[in-house]
Amino acid sequence: MKQNINEITKTGYVALIGRPNVGKSTLINKLLDQKIAIVSDKPQTTRRSILGIKTSQKGQIIFVDNPGIHRPLHKLNKRMMNFVYSSLETCDLINLIIDSTQKFGHGDQFVIETLKEISTPKFLLINKVDIIKKEKILLIIDKYKDLLEFKEIIPISALKGINVDALEDRIYDYLPEAEKIFPDNEISDQTQRFLLSEIIREKMLSHVSQELPFVTAVYIDQIEDRQKRETSKSSAPSEESANKKKVIYIKANIFVEKDTHRRIIIGKQGHMIKTIGTQARQEMEQILGSKIFLELQVKVKERWRDSVAVLDLIEDQNL
Ligand code: GDP
Ligand code: MG
Repeated sequence: MKQNINEITKTGYVALIGRPNVGKSTLINKLLDQKIAIVSDKPQTTRRSILGIKTSQKGQIIFVDNPGIHRPLHKLNKRMMNFVYSSLETCDLINLIIDSTQKFGHGDQFVIETLKEISTPKFLLINKVDIIKKEKILLIIDKYKDLLEFKEIIPISALKGINVDALEDRIYDYLPEAEKIFPDNEISDQTQRFLLSEIIREKMLSHVSQELPFVTAVYIDQIEDRQKRETSKSSAPSEESANKKKVIYIKANIFVEKDTHRRIIIGKQGHMIKTIGTQARQEMEQILGSKIFLELQVKVKERWRDSVAVLDLIEDQNL
């Protein structure tokens, strides 16, 4: 059978791994040119593996965004670790991302030790090179090249898009020839429900202190299409959405472990929760292209991280 070279596509799974805050979500968003994973300057904001799918003429790269490799402490973290290991073992390429502005530490060593056990080809992505000196990049390359066998070492800026296209090209060198798996216009396998809950979490994390991210979870309870009962004069700065009759009602529960945390999120006279709600609603309206009524409830559930019921609930959102 005669085969046209142009028709051969490559398709494969690429794991993005790295410690919290190195820029994994930023890279995914840049690669896909769209917001998939939430970005925050607080650690451990991404709890689940999120697939981002980049389709091009060459084929399809299916990215798995991991919550970071670290030692399991709670049941939640054990589940996270299972996601990490299974994606590393079954993917075609591993991209280890490091933050070039941070010193090499125990966490990095642990990641290297973990990767030594895995035979999948690996790239090292040295991120945030937009804010460091060239000499520093060379020093990092020098250190890492002896630690582990990397097929490629690529300095990038996920934020500015430096070398991101080149990275995509190199990735294709390591993918098997295969048919595309997902339809061309699909960019994620996340459910809308999960994306909405991540938006709320992102807004919350941008306003609360460092220790809260570990003790909060968001669960979308209800998404319902409703007809607008009255045309409000007060809100709706955009004429476009004001003309739309449909309102989507979304109810979300925010789980925290302590009443003190609940009070922080609610804020003085409900100020904080109102800000979080407004910002989340505005972003949801952009994504869904419809007016949204968002109701947030903060619930105290002690030790939710060890509660199987809550973990299952949160996991269900992504099915
Ligand atoms: P993740 O935890 O690995 O997913 O990291 P995020 O993508 O959430 O990014 C963590 C922080 O680093 C955010 O404040 C990003 O804006 C920032 N960041 C990510 N990539 C870059 C980069 O290339 N340059 C700079 N200067 N900042 C970056
Ligand atoms: Mg992330």
